[in-house]
Amino acid sequence: MYIPFVMALMVISLIASACGSSSGENTTTASEDSTTSTTESPAAETSKSESPVAETTTTESPAEGSTGEANDTTAGVNAAQWSDNVEVSIDGETWTFTSDSRPSHELPDQYLIPSGGPGDDDPMFAATDTDTLIPAVELVVELPLNPVYSEEPTDIPLGQGAVIISGAQLYNDFEDTERSIIAVEDQTLIDGVGFLDACNGHPLASGLNYHYHGIPYCITDVVDVADQHSTIIGFILDGFPLYGNKDVDGEVITNAELDECSGHVGPTPEFPEGIYHYHLTDDAAPYSINCYHGEIEVVSGRGGGGGGGGRPDGPPPGGERPEGPPPDGERPPRDGEGAPPAE
Ligand SMILES: [Zn+2]
Ligand SMILES: [Zn+2]
Repeated sequence: MYIPFVMALMVISLIASACGSSSGENTTTASEDSTTSTTESPAAETSKSESPVAETTTTESPAEGSTGEANDTTAGVNAAQWSDNVEVSIDGETWTFTSDSRPSHELPDQYLIPSGGPGDDDPMFAATDTDTLIPAVELVVELPLNPVYSEEPTDIPLGQGAVIISGAQLYNDFEDTERSIIAVEDQTLIDGVGFLDACNGHPLASGLNYHYHGIPYCITDVVDVADQHSTIIGFILDGFPLYGNKDVDGEVITNAELDECSGHVGPTPEFPEGIYHYHLTDDAAPYSINCYHGEIEVVSGRGGGGGGGGRPDGPPPGGERPEGPPPDGERPPRDGEGAPPAE
């Protein structure tokens, strides 16, 4: 059976994992990463030897199910409104997303960046100039062109998720490997500077890997069309397409209408015949996508990161702190009135 292979984020994640510690590291990371990215990227090619055999299915899944069948996403890859910093190329069973990892839309002047190491349950936030954050770092992600629905969901680890048309990435809901801190609900504002921006995005504490944790309104506001199903904004790493929160009638879609991975089968502008696809939502958690419903080989951070040496899912188990507040449920100081952008 064809197992879509996704190699993602290896390089950048590696770096990110190393830089979680303290503020003031931002300037050095920019130079670090260019070196690392060139040396690390080829490694992950190794497991790409799965032989594509897409036809095996015996599943008698009814019309609703794309289960076991390959779904051709070429139309979506071609139709997506990729920004200028993104290149996509289709190559047989896979396609490749290449960007500078930076979001193409406007960013606030500053972000609140947490400092403090593991065990620090009262992190300090420092307003940090965006100019010193979010360097351009090549991001190369290979995705299956013909994703296959799986009955069995697979958790999306920290730091993994989707590629977005802006050039940046989507992460799952969480800021911690324990899956306890939901970024969108943990928005912190100090003197008008936010942990998350108005696009529900932010960089890691290292300044790298700008990513979204919820609906990127600055993107959906541009690409969505009134009274229609949301327009494609990216692809989850299992290969299935990702959308904002509008259903076929252009009405807001809620979590209750979606499966456990925030997906469903139905027509979209790019796939009028219907396809399994994901929706970001803003009525309640999950806001982002926390599991794959497509077949995927997740190489999670098990020690050495496998043959590739890469760590596709972000910060290492011990050092996942770069993201933000501590995993203890201790909330950082927050401005209750400021409100998260998504709510
Ligand atoms: Zn839909
Ligand atoms: Zn985050």
